[in-house]
Amino acid sequence: MKFFDAHNHLQDFASEGELADALAAASAAGVEGMLCCGTGPDDWGRVLELAGRYPQITPCFGLHPWYTPEEGWRQKLEEFVRRTPCCVGEIGLDGTRDSGDQEKNFLLQLEIAGRFDKPAVIHCVRSWGRMLELLKAARLRSFMLHGYGGAPELVKDFAALGGYFSFGGEIADPAREKLREALAAVPVDRLLFETEAPEPGGPLWRAGPAGVAEVVAAASGLLGCPEEELAGISYSNGLNFIEGFK
Ligand SMILES: [Zn+2]
Repeated sequence: MKFFDAHNHLQDFASEGELADALAAASAAGVEGMLCCGTGPDDWGRVLELAGRYPQITPCFGLHPWYTPEEGWRQKLEEFVRRTPCCVGEIGLDGTRDSGDQEKNFLLQLEIAGRFDKPAVIHCVRSWGRMLELLKAARLRSFMLHGYGGAPELVKDFAALGGYFSFGGEIADPAREKLREALAAVPVDRLLFETEAPEPGGPLWRAGPAGVAEVVAAASGLLGCPEEELAGISYSNGLNFIEGFK
C-alpha cells in the first residue's frame, strides 16, 4: 500500500536522529509522499533543507495564523515561493486566537498563492463562514483544508471552489459525529489524510508520518471502502493536489 501524509511539521522533530527514525518508519509503512508545512520565517529554511534531502517531501511555506511576523516576512515568503516547487501554507484563520493582523496576513498570502499559482494549505478554526467568503474571492486553482473541522453541509461549497479536505486520526473517535459526517460528505477525489506529526506524548498516529496508515485504516471502516483502495485513492489525490506546481 502507498500512503500520502497531507500535513506534517517534520522540522519540529527534536533531533536529526528522531527525524531519521520517523522517516525510516514511514518509508517502511509505504508513505511515499508528504507535505511538510512551515509556520513562519524561522522554519522555512529548515523545511526547504528537508525537502532537498528527502524527495518524498513537498515543502510548504507560510505564516501560521497563530504567529506574529517579523518585519519583511512577506518579501522573504515570496523569495521562497518563487524559487521552489512548493505549496503556500500553513496559512489561515483561527477564531480561538486573538491576533490583530490575522485576516490581513491570510489575504496577503492568498494573493501570493494566486500570483504564483501554488496550492494553499489552510488552517481554519471557528471561522468557516469568513473562510468561505475569502476563498470565493481568492479564486485559487487549488487549496486544502487541513484537519477539516467545518460543518458537513459546507463540504460541497468548498469542494466547488477546488478544495481538498484532510482528516487526522480524530475520526476514530465515535463521539466525533459531525466530523464523521463531514468525512462521508467529501467527494472521493478530494479526500486526504494527515498526521500533523510530530506531537511528542500525543496519540500514536501523530508520532510520525507512518501514522497516516492508522488514519486510513480508521477511515476505511467508516466509509466502507477497503483499506488498500482508500490508501491508493488518497495517495493519488495527494499527487493530484501538488501536480503541476512542482
Ligand atoms: Zn499544522
